[in-house]
Amino acid sequence: MNLNEIKTYFPILTQSVNGHPLVYLDNAATSQKPKVVIDTLEAYYQTYNANPHRGVHTLGVKATDAYEAAREKVKTFINAKETAEIIFTRGTTSSLNLVAQSYVGQFLKEGDEILITQMEHHSNLIPWQQAAKKIGAILKYIPLSPNGTIDLDNVKESMTANTKFISITHVSNVLGTINPINEIVKLAHKQGAVVCVDAAQSVSHFKVDVQDLACDFLAFSGHKMMGPTGIGVLYGKKQILEHMPPIEYGGEMIDFVGLYDSTWKELPWKFEGGTPIVAGAIGLGTAIDFLEQIGLETIRLHEKKLANFALEQLSAIKGISIYGPKNPEQRGGVITFNIDNVHPHDLATFLDQEGIAIRAGHHCCQPLMKWLNVSATARASFYLYNTEEDIEFLINGIKKAKVYFEDAFAI
Ligand code: PMP
Repeated sequence: MNLNEIKTYFPILTQSVNGHPLVYLDNAATSQKPKVVIDTLEAYYQTYNANPHRGVHTLGVKATDAYEAAREKVKTFINAKETAEIIFTRGTTSSLNLVAQSYVGQFLKEGDEILITQMEHHSNLIPWQQAAKKIGAILKYIPLSPNGTIDLDNVKESMTANTKFISITHVSNVLGTINPINEIVKLAHKQGAVVCVDAAQSVSHFKVDVQDLACDFLAFSGHKMMGPTGIGVLYGKKQILEHMPPIEYGGEMIDFVGLYDSTWKELPWKFEGGTPIVAGAIGLGTAIDFLEQIGLETIRLHEKKLANFALEQLSAIKGISIYGPKNPEQRGGVITFNIDNVHPHDLATFLDQEGIAIRAGHHCCQPLMKWLNVSATARASFYLYNTEEDIEFLINGIKKAKVYFEDAFAI
């Protein structure tokens, strides 16, 4: 598969928006789906839709096999040791909430410390904030360096004998920062703390190997990796998951149900109460096949090239502030910026009229906006189907917007 012609695999990208060819630069919010993923969903609903695990009929067996085959693909994709460590959830948010309720809420106690950073997405902040309140644990923030990175000395200084749990984003959905997870995990484990990684912005952009990272939990969403919405993954080390209680009780997750007590299925099913997200999981499996056909190394190189090109072009615009690290090794394909005298919402609305989709706002990172001392930013985020031409459209659009709004200011 050639990256130059990759857009043709994505039906949505061939349309015009507001009279212009669509330039989709909102990939950190969600990614577009290749036709093979859409076809997979259609085939499932048209030919073998059935409730898995229970049915002995042909369709039920087929649906069960496809659902479990998708789990196997996820296992290989992130190099987990076994499928018992792969729990299907609704997405990163559900995965992190599962850890908050079933691990932090159960195994941490009053006075224990939870460490996070101010660059976390609300999904990797509120679950710990709320769990900490409930059990009387202390939520602490590792200070960020001025360029929006994490300095390991600050990690060391933030840790105490009471640090029991750390949750960090692998890649910031605002700053684009790639965080040094390997090193943080080493420091945490020395201290006896468990590490959870928010991989929503990483797994689909470069190779993530959970055994190499040695993290204890890793959470991600299918929709950000060309899969359907409504499906996500929680990876957890088996020896930890085994001790955690289910958080949803009902069908599918039980072994035996008595009048006054019940027992649970083994991993991973004890965490998958109710009818599973079959179509979502199977669609995610196809997205993984597609990603692997292209290769994560190729995707990383492509996005790095795009980010460098965009940073170079954007930096030449007068009155622009670009946030996050400058070093290409420390950042992914997410670029966040503000333009003097142009509100990011106005910019995004103006660009939309040119067929260019970017995001404006706080990006579910209000504490990070506070740290940046802004109320909102504009964000362009790239994926494998974006091209240098897309970035040229963006740059021209921003230049036009600047003229438009500066003229408006001059009146
Ligand atoms: N963490 C990060 C870093 C994200 O970018 C997002 C999605 N914007 C999430 C968590 C939450 O993902 P979801 O909404 O798919 O649960």
